[in-house]
Amino acid sequence: MARAGSGSPRLDFRSDTRTVPDARMRAAMAGAQVGDDVYGDDPTVAVLEERVAELLGTEAALLTPTSTMANLLAPLAAFGPPGSPAPRLIVGADTHMAFLESRGLRRFGGVELLPVEQRPDGLPDLDVLTALLSTGAGPPTVVCLENTSMMRSGNALDAAATRAVAALAHRYGAHFHLDGARLANAAVALGVRPAELAEPADSVAFSVSKGLGAPVGGLLCGSGEYVARARELRGWLGGSMHQAGVVAAPALLALGRLPDLAADHETAAALACGLESVPGVELMRPPRPTNMVMARLAGLTPDECAARLAGHGVLVLPLPNGYVRFVTHRAHDMIGVREAVSALAAVAATVPAARLTTDGDLPGRGLSMTCMEEA
Ligand SMILES: *Cc1c(COP(=O)(O)O)cnc(C)c1O
Repeated sequence: MARAGSGSPRLDFRSDTRTVPDARMRAAMAGAQVGDDVYGDDPTVAVLEERVAELLGTEAALLTPTSTMANLLAPLAAFGPPGSPAPRLIVGADTHMAFLESRGLRRFGGVELLPVEQRPDGLPDLDVLTALLSTGAGPPTVVCLENTSMMRSGNALDAAATRAVAALAHRYGAHFHLDGARLANAAVALGVRPAELAEPADSVAFSVSKGLGAPVGGLLCGSGEYVARARELRGWLGGSMHQAGVVAAPALLALGRLPDLAADHETAAALACGLESVPGVELMRPPRPTNMVMARLAGLTPDECAARLAGHGVLVLPLPNGYVRFVTHRAHDMIGVREAVSALAAVAATVPAARLTTDGDLPGRGLSMTCMEEA
């Protein structure tokens, strides 16, 4: 049962970035062979970049402090030498890049974003995309696709969807960038290799610090030439790190944990099943779910819902789309799922609007714990 009212948050579902390095990762950091990556001779970084390039099927990869920086470098390295004029960037309106990176892209990259409406599965509306791409002689264009789709409850887009966007971008001479911070989740959910999902892309941003659990790190992947340009730009931005082997070592361990993401997806499925049984709760149900559950409770704003759940020791992220976000990761198990479901049931029981949505049902009655037994 939830330690209702204990006030000390014990279950943190805000993001899979909340994963912390375990003992093996810390030991790997302590024992990492290092050089100086600014001089190009850190052996652990070299191995990491090779492994990620192999994983995504690209010629080369570049370690960046964050995927945010990988996404900033991505359009700037797309066309010509590092000093070339900035391209414009067409990207889904409900993406990490549109929400959290547009200001940095504009300020530090001179990149203007053209947001595109997205379908419920996260794919940009292809008609709108075509219209934007065919508008005459603008600057060179980068088209970005996000997989998994952050604001579409972590939906995984399959290779066919990715190829459709890539084909459209390439028809108009655009560079196709894949923001695959959680591409590993997509690959595991779809049962395909990450390289299959990355194949149509000219560049891919990949994160080792989400569900894979490394403390920090993004990788920007693409052709050898592309990555060489990105490497120079990374230096300009102050993103080159000297003894970065200490960061690369836990990231290498993280790469070995791809199959573990399936457990996070099972936890999320059980959580979705349980939360849905709470009176007044409505879920966003993506076609290909991964490790996220987005829920809303009748009668409460996302901020109010998050605040009340925090009072029961459960942390979630309130979103501008009307939902609160639960992200499952390696720190969660079925006991945590039960506690989260019980916490939301306890919150719902205090909200008249939530109680009204069920015909005299007792709040919390029929809470589906069966889905948790199955999972
Ligand atoms: C987390 C995330 C990023 C940024 O990654 P950081 O390493 O936290 O900077 C970019 N894009 C998407 C889709 C993400 O989920």
